[in-house]
Amino acid sequence: MLKTILTIILGLSLLTITTAFNYPRVTVANNEAVLNFPESVTFSAIVTSDSEIRSIVLEYGNEQQTCGEVTAKAFPQFSPGKNVEAKWTWEMRQSGSLPPGAFLWWRWRVTDANGNETLSETKTITWLDDIHDWKFMSNSDFLRLHWYEGDQSFAIDLAKFAYNGLLFNETQSGLKAEAPINIYIYADTKDLQDAILYEPSWTGGQAFPDQDIVILGISPSDLDWGRDAIVHELTHVLVGHQTFSCLGDVPTWLNEGLAVYSEGELDSSSQRQLDEAIRLDTLLTVRSLSSGFSEVADKANLSYTQSYSLTKFLLETYGQEKMTALLLSLRDGLAIDSALLQAYGFDIDGLEDAWRQAIDARPQPESTQPTEVPTPTFVPTIVPVSGAILANQITPTTIPTSSFGQPTPEVPVRTAPPLWLTLTLLGLCCVFLILIGMVILGFVVRNQNLKEAKNVE
Ligand SMILES: [Zn+2]
Repeated sequence: MLKTILTIILGLSLLTITTAFNYPRVTVANNEAVLNFPESVTFSAIVTSDSEIRSIVLEYGNEQQTCGEVTAKAFPQFSPGKNVEAKWTWEMRQSGSLPPGAFLWWRWRVTDANGNETLSETKTITWLDDIHDWKFMSNSDFLRLHWYEGDQSFAIDLAKFAYNGLLFNETQSGLKAEAPINIYIYADTKDLQDAILYEPSWTGGQAFPDQDIVILGISPSDLDWGRDAIVHELTHVLVGHQTFSCLGDVPTWLNEGLAVYSEGELDSSSQRQLDEAIRLDTLLTVRSLSSGFSEVADKANLSYTQSYSLTKFLLETYGQEKMTALLLSLRDGLAIDSALLQAYGFDIDGLEDAWRQAIDARPQPESTQPTEVPTPTFVPTIVPVSGAILANQITPTTIPTSSFGQPTPEVPVRTAPPLWLTLTLLGLCCVFLILIGMVILGFVVRNQNLKEAKNVE
């Protein structure tokens, strides 16, 4: 028995030695990424091998929720040999910019002349500028606040509001944080715009739910606005997380409604605008708020306020469990009408009827009236400062090989034939029935006449 065991151990040892001996000796040294924020990042490494190096592939990406495995590949040029330098630059202007704070990762796949393949360790780096003296604080497992302007009390204040926002969302809307959210506070809008390549004419900030990142421009003198904005954007991250899938989409009124609801009561001017829209019967239809908001400032503000009112109605009348059920149905790919029906027993029109009744508004216009749908646009994820003109929402980027795009705006579907068609068909039916009646009557009268004629005979 002992002899057998010794034989096995000896055999295994020999196997190990043989494997080690045959294993290609490829080393990847000086493996680094140098950031040129926000333009580009250059990956480089010195690759050494026993035999000539045939190919070097850089695999890279950024950490985010995706529908499937997403790995970008780059093929750096190098002079053939056993000791080569590989270098490749990721140009953000070509791929679309990443938000500050994104986690980048990369690794090298090296193949030598004998066909042996070696994969280097995966390294990571945070995509962030080094021109600001970033400070960090955290007051919860789910919040990481980064800022550079303003003292500690400024950060503590914002972190406190962010924490209360998370708590409010969990208890009032059923939205729970699932992963730490990194919040980057720039000193103002200009600094924020310098940090991203695209051209934002919007003010404020942006949420990147698939990367658990929020970026905001808040100066210490603008704290009141910042407190609301931070909670608003955090809510977008929570909604994005809860509903993430490759199937579904969340209507804009619901996403924005939850975000504005998390900020607390409406401010007085928004409340006045809503009251006036109710009084003058100028409310926008719920369907028109599903895919995008108007770019006209007044209408855009009313869109946010109505979204708030709708969401408040759903939450405060039917409770947070039903809201969670609605969001999960949307995540699972149900269209909004079906998702509403499943959770609440009414579709969008039913919701609009119930909501209008609850806020003492006039019933919605006849369903035969064409629903007003503004040109679908992405909306800024933040309530604009009063008077600011809305611009398109910035599209969070994906890495080049990503095969999925932005959700398609939902197009309202008419569920019943139009009234004019129904009436025309009814009219035709009546004429047809009258004609048949006249023919039958004609026969009866003719038979009667014949009978009478016979009787006379
Ligand atoms: Zn928003």
